[in-house]
Amino acid sequence: DIAPYIPGRATNDGGRPVVKLSANENPLGTSPEAKAAFAAAQASLERYPDPGATALREALAAAHGLDPARVIYGTGSDELLHLAAGAYAGPGDEAIYVRYGFAVYDIAIRRVGATPVVALDRDYATDVDAILAAVTDRTTLVYVANPNNPTGTFAPAAEIARLHAGLPSHVLLVLDQAYAEYLEPEDDDLGLQLVEAHENVFVTRTFSKIHGLAAERIGWGYGSVAAIDAMHRIRAPFNVTTAGQLAAIAAVGDTGFVERSRAHNRQWRDWLAGEVAALGNAGLRAVPSETNFLLVLFEGPVSAETAYKGLMDAGYITRWLPGQGLANGLRITIGTEEQMRGLADALRGIVG
Ligand code: PLP
Repeated sequence: DIAPYIPGRATNDGGRPVVKLSANENPLGTSPEAKAAFAAAQASLERYPDPGATALREALAAAHGLDPARVIYGTGSDELLHLAAGAYAGPGDEAIYVRYGFAVYDIAIRRVGATPVVALDRDYATDVDAILAAVTDRTTLVYVANPNNPTGTFAPAAEIARLHAGLPSHVLLVLDQAYAEYLEPEDDDLGLQLVEAHENVFVTRTFSKIHGLAAERIGWGYGSVAAIDAMHRIRAPFNVTTAGQLAAIAAVGDTGFVERSRAHNRQWRDWLAGEVAALGNAGLRAVPSETNFLLVLFEGPVSAETAYKGLMDAGYITRWLPGQGLANGLRITIGTEEQMRGLADALRGIVG
């Protein structure tokens, strides 16, 4: 029997080390500068945080060449996805997302009483034509994660521009860029530029992934004056902690940490993809990924469920996704070299 993973504990009941590769966290940890800023926040624990996150907005605006007044911040980017639904959808409205999309979209849409509409993918990748075909006169919102979770696929700038061009102007396109920092620079989908040019685009980003600040729950978004105003009206006043704001500002400044994290990820993602390809005769294949995880499909005699349980038994927690229609897939976060080598050994033992 497999002992359940208990959040907050480093070992399972058998006392074995547990390697968590199920939530796309940064295996290199957090920028030392961000940790120092987090620690310094204890000097003002009795004070409420800045409700306007002024310094953080200014730091983000300077780093990305944006208007600080149009930067919004959330308790994780999750909150921003909910704010978009709250501002743009309600009973009678339809909101579209892509099959094998991030689980929060469906929750955010239903929470405001709107109707979710699922557009089919094309071999696990975002299919712009399928999204445009799903638009009706009731559509008010479209969510696209780029790159996408849990598939890892990326839609290039031309495809995103084509999607936007095909949407009615009252439909808000939410471009969820939680994994944008893992892209090669030439693969930018130009979402932030699309926001500058059009009122109906909203980009979300997070500090949870490459910046290694998942515990602090902090994300940010960029949109038109009207969209940001609508979201501020329904946002909780003190939605981002002081420690989160200070750590995030330091993280924006530590570009070296981001670059090291990206390089590490690229190296070990490519390596793991090679290991999976070598197991192709056992029916395994990895979906091409531009993120910090790989979706591995099991199309041979050994099922994803068997591999998931076998890896768990060996101490590796991955994400099996039957609830998202992916009973044939395991999503594996890119970890340290030791973790990747150990996981690959365990996987070979299970399917080999
Ligand atoms: N969007 C996508 C596509 C994600 O994968 C995640 C986290 O896994 C998020 C948004 C939310 O991240 P957070 O709320 O930690 O910013």
